[in-house]
Amino acid sequence: MQAMLLTKYMHLEMVEMAEPTIGPDDVLVRVRACGICGSDVHGLDGSTGRRLPPLVMGHEAAGEVVECGANVTDLKAGERVTFDSTVYCGRCFFCARGDINLCDNREVLGVSPGPYRRHGAFAEYVSVPRRIMYRLPDNLSFEQAALIEAVSVGVHAVNLTPIVLGDTAVVVGSGMIGLLTIQAVKHAGAARVIAVDTVDDRLVRVKEPGATDTVNPKSTDAVEAIKALTGGHGAAVALECVGATEPIQTAIASVRKGGTVTLVGNISPEITLPLQSVVSRQIRVQGSCASNGEYPASIDLMSSGAIKVDTMISAVAPLAEGPSWFDRLYRHEPGLMKVILRPGA
Ligand SMILES: [Zn+2]
Ligand SMILES: [Zn+2]
Repeated sequence: MQAMLLTKYMHLEMVEMAEPTIGPDDVLVRVRACGICGSDVHGLDGSTGRRLPPLVMGHEAAGEVVECGANVTDLKAGERVTFDSTVYCGRCFFCARGDINLCDNREVLGVSPGPYRRHGAFAEYVSVPRRIMYRLPDNLSFEQAALIEAVSVGVHAVNLTPIVLGDTAVVVGSGMIGLLTIQAVKHAGAARVIAVDTVDDRLVRVKEPGATDTVNPKSTDAVEAIKALTGGHGAAVALECVGATEPIQTAIASVRKGGTVTLVGNISPEITLPLQSVVSRQIRVQGSCASNGEYPASIDLMSSGAIKVDTMISAVAPLAEGPSWFDRLYRHEPGLMKVILRPGA
């Protein structure tokens, strides 16, 4: 099969590879669409240590069932499917608790951090365990389905966040995850959603997904502006989708006493935490990792039109053009959000 292989850091190459073999609980999928994730772009230069070459990356994908392992009896060839990126073990302490996103033996498709190497979906075929696979409704395209993983990240973060109908929510960061989180928090009952971003061009696009107000901390005192919009108290909750000291401090300062800050962004390994503000105002600060069973809900939200992803798809291109799209994303070409590659196209 044709695959896009990371042969060494900063070098992606289209190669001919053997089709993956499947175990009894696996399904062989013909990949129809696979999104380029930010983590794949970061993985390109080896800085994350999670994509040791040689590796076929790609974990945001959808396609058609080709063949099922002996134990897989409920799917047949030709069915349209998508799958989670995280392969949980189903046996560890955390899996037994239902926290499959926190699995001790978690593996991610298209990742090779050392202890394991799982080739991903930038290829014509990929082998995926049945237990992380979901059928696609007819009204979702393969390209839209390639964004379900990102949607599930926003849905999970909102599910962890205590929101009461009519609350005000602050969403810091208006990148793709921010835009999806805005939509999710709106559907969770937030009457007012305040989008915070330091780039005005990004704040232009937050209204359509459902933000009611925008604040740019570069040009205004964000905390004062948010207080002014919330009767002087601050917002009930904030969801932080950047992952650095300044935006996290903004998120913490933007919630009212007793409020909750959910951290989704994950760029800086360490940040400066305003401890006294958190403790003395009794703020709950919590992390949100990937998703935990939110795939079916995310699919339903997209299928019903409650969460829309089309405007986030910047380009759909044949897999063979993948290396050049990676290059453009790596160089932070302005305006690019999700790029989707189509094997066999
Ligand atoms: Zn991803
Ligand atoms: Zn486990």
